[in-house]
Amino acid sequence: MNVQNVTRKFKRLVIKAKTPIAKPCNGSVNNSKINSLLVVSNGGENGEKGKRYLVKGLRGVLNNSMMALAKQRGIEVCHSSNKVETQSGESLLPTAFHPNGACFPEDECIRHRLMGSIKKQSILRFEPVIIVSENVKEEVEDAEKMHVATENRVALVEGSKKSIQDFGERYVAGKFTIKIELRKELTKEELGFLLKSILFMSEIGFGGAVNNGAGKLVLKEIVLQEVERSRTIRKGKVIEEEKVRNLWKQMEEALEAW
Ligand SMILES: [Zn+2]
Repeated sequence: MNVQNVTRKFKRLVIKAKTPIAKPCNGSVNNSKINSLLVVSNGGENGEKGKRYLVKGLRGVLNNSMMALAKQRGIEVCHSSNKVETQSGESLLPTAFHPNGACFPEDECIRHRLMGSIKKQSILRFEPVIIVSENVKEEVEDAEKMHVATENRVALVEGSKKSIQDFGERYVAGKFTIKIELRKELTKEELGFLLKSILFMSEIGFGGAVNNGAGKLVLKEIVLQEVERSRTIRKGKVIEEEKVRNLWKQMEEALEAW
């Protein structure tokens, strides 16, 4: 190890995916013009570098995928909700689940070990997926290029010019990368469950308009990596380097273990 550097070693999953069309949801559309994609940067003074958008909701897809997969295999895990019943006493939880975090710490289920709850931090850290419109001509380093389309929805009150709805909804299409950092070493079973839940994500709709065919997640590549990241200062400049090794065998063993 170079003594001039600070370094950290960790593992991460890098998932290459694409969507033919998706409407990533970033909250409600009420009282605002456009908010189905969160703008994280306006792309320079005149916007010449293109707006950067955050694609949210991917962690939620993994959450739902874990629940669906565990249910299919007859394994009880946390539900993402911790509400047990309605005010009138009607049960809200499907029978295959316990309320979120109820298993912790005595009898922690596999989903809670990975995703945590209000009681425990998750060991999966998602890196933000930042995209920019493919119309941007320049090379971009800090975002991935995707097709971004806006559907304007305007509805007027009959016989007047007063609008009852006037907003744009953003759709995206194309390739993107999901990176999930593992905060600690996973057991083979945990990694196996995680990998299979990622594979199952394609069965779960992502974002809005799923019933109209949006939100398909096509998985192209999933790689477990060991990363050694180091940083140093040379003449005042911070130099960051990453050494990456792919862990094929560990992935294979994990797929057999769960
Ligand atoms: Zn649980």
